[in-house]
Amino acid sequence: MKYRWGFIFLLLIFTVTTWLAVWYETPSKYLTVDFLDVGQGDAILITAPNGNQVLIDGGPDRSVIRALGQAMPFFDHSIDLVLESHPDQDHIGGLPEVFDRYNVAGFIEPLFTAETSVYKTLEQDVIKEKSSHLIAKRGTKITLSPGVYLSIIEAHPATWGPRGGKPDSNYSSIIAKLTYASTSFLFMGDASIKLENQLLTAKSSDLKATVLKVAHHGAKSSNSLAFFRAVKPELAIISVAEKNRYNHPSPETIGWLKMAGIQTLQTKDLGTIKLKSDGISVGF
Ligand SMILES: [Zn+2]
Repeated sequence: MKYRWGFIFLLLIFTVTTWLAVWYETPSKYLTVDFLDVGQGDAILITAPNGNQVLIDGGPDRSVIRALGQAMPFFDHSIDLVLESHPDQDHIGGLPEVFDRYNVAGFIEPLFTAETSVYKTLEQDVIKEKSSHLIAKRGTKITLSPGVYLSIIEAHPATWGPRGGKPDSNYSSIIAKLTYASTSFLFMGDASIKLENQLLTAKSSDLKATVLKVAHHGAKSSNSLAFFRAVKPELAIISVAEKNRYNHPSPETIGWLKMAGIQTLQTKDLGTIKLKSDGISVGF
């Protein structure tokens, strides 16, 4: 008798899990973007209407694992693409742990690399995982779901920064834009003001977006009123910790966002921020 109840219980668990998986895999009309709460750093999970997932950056440490666990179904152990915006600790620190816990099909990064031990571990993880490996190039367009694509707006090929030959990883930040019908999200990594100004002169029409992930945690060495006015988002997101030694975001950045009339949300106040788009508008 005891065994029979055990069997029925297992069958029940199996049925519930299967239905959860079927329900989850059923195409949704929503694209969701989770700005994960990882403290001082960036980690953004994109889930396309057909279930394809992209993780942009992995935060500073293993806190990304808890945040991903909350944003993804418990039975889901795969990520289709990890995009590393640039190789600074607050963007790649948690990625080796992500490669340990999840099957990662593809990995995309800028040409600029780092000499740090965490970067070297990540390099090894990409090889071990046999993920397809791409160097980001301006103009690359990745289709995530019918009508949903991620475009590389900029991926500066310089391996050395603009400041007198000194390496500058922020300058190499991949700028990516996610588009779903008439809605879009612009992800700025830690792009510096110099890179933003180059974008402003070169291609301001590509910059318009419904949601802006503000560059470099709201630092004043990035960001400007002119840039915010060119992007003209309905909503700006700043990924930042309550207490950080850089005093991010800067009061200047917050002031420019206010002047431009842009509603701004911060992960330090709200934790993970989940946004949904049906292709017409973006909501919570
Ligand atoms: Zn950063």
